[in-house]
Amino acid sequence: MTEILGVNRISAALQRNRPVVLTFHGVTSDTSDTICNDEGLHLYRPLFERLMQHVARYYNPVPLARVVDWLEGKDGPLERAVCVTFDDGFRNVLTEAGPVLKRLGIPSTLFVTTDFVFKKQMLWPDRLVSAIATTREARLEIEVRDANHSFDLTTRDAKLRTNTELNALCKSVSQEERLVLLGGIIERLHVDESQLLSAWEGFRPIDPDEMRLLRNIGMTVGAHTCSHPILARLTAAEQSRELTESKSLIEGVTGYACDQFAYPNGSPGDFDDGTRARVIEAGYRCAFTTIKRRMSRADDRFEIPRCTLTHNRVTVAEFATELSGLPGALRALLNRPGARTDARSASTARSAVLPT
Ligand SMILES: [Zn+2]
Repeated sequence: MTEILGVNRISAALQRNRPVVLTFHGVTSDTSDTICNDEGLHLYRPLFERLMQHVARYYNPVPLARVVDWLEGKDGPLERAVCVTFDDGFRNVLTEAGPVLKRLGIPSTLFVTTDFVFKKQMLWPDRLVSAIATTREARLEIEVRDANHSFDLTTRDAKLRTNTELNALCKSVSQEERLVLLGGIIERLHVDESQLLSAWEGFRPIDPDEMRLLRNIGMTVGAHTCSHPILARLTAAEQSRELTESKSLIEGVTGYACDQFAYPNGSPGDFDDGTRARVIEAGYRCAFTTIKRRMSRADDRFEIPRCTLTHNRVTVAEFATELSGLPGALRALLNRPGARTDARSASTARSAVLPT
């Protein structure tokens, strides 16, 4: 209805000087209902293509460097600017998203987690869901901090519930405890650790050599740490190591400066002033959060907001309405700030597409 009335276009026109940075993770041609992609971290390729067609038709897709120039006052007004970014380093960004972006002439940035890409170490939520998807066990009994937990694995829905609950449990403990807990879960599920990465094609990281090919599709490589930790929970020295090692590994392969950074998780509290100082010290030019709103000229270039899109149930009309800034404008009017949920911590419940 709003589309018919042209309200989207009016709203977009009103907010045309405030760029939007979009965040995706992966794009897949596998549209089966695998539990490995139940949250829609990997967007279905036909849907991704329709969304990008909308961006190319009604907006001005620009590289991230342009919005940073704009924040620094080096660039004039940026009308209807939209940036496209991908987090983590999945291979299907090259193989599935790449052809779409190249054909539509949309530049983008891939933020790479180097342990994932260079050492093939799966991100822990993928490791967990892969183990749950492939196990033949009917139940899982584990003890965490002296409390016994029991999980049903007999049906698809039961596995999904178990994944959600175990994911929350893993998040509630420290990084070291999480690794031990995950190791225990995988052992009790009797799955082969070496098979978890190949359990679903979407889990596969891009090969380091393939990162060089990204230039051909207008994609820049930025850093997303080595091990994807919550940086604010690490010591200053550990934070510096995560920031500098990932940067130099990426530069060693791409041959150009890696000066764009995205905070893992990226919500307020996942990074702090100390983290920000370490990011600057490591030589980055800018850093991106997952705080969901449009950019404004007053933004700090080390805390740039981004809007994450993480489910496959969105329609192009909903995306268009949210991208136009209308829901954000209405929320501001009603004094109800938008959610600030990171993709990796989002629940399976459907939420606003792009709170602005
Ligand atoms: Zn990430």
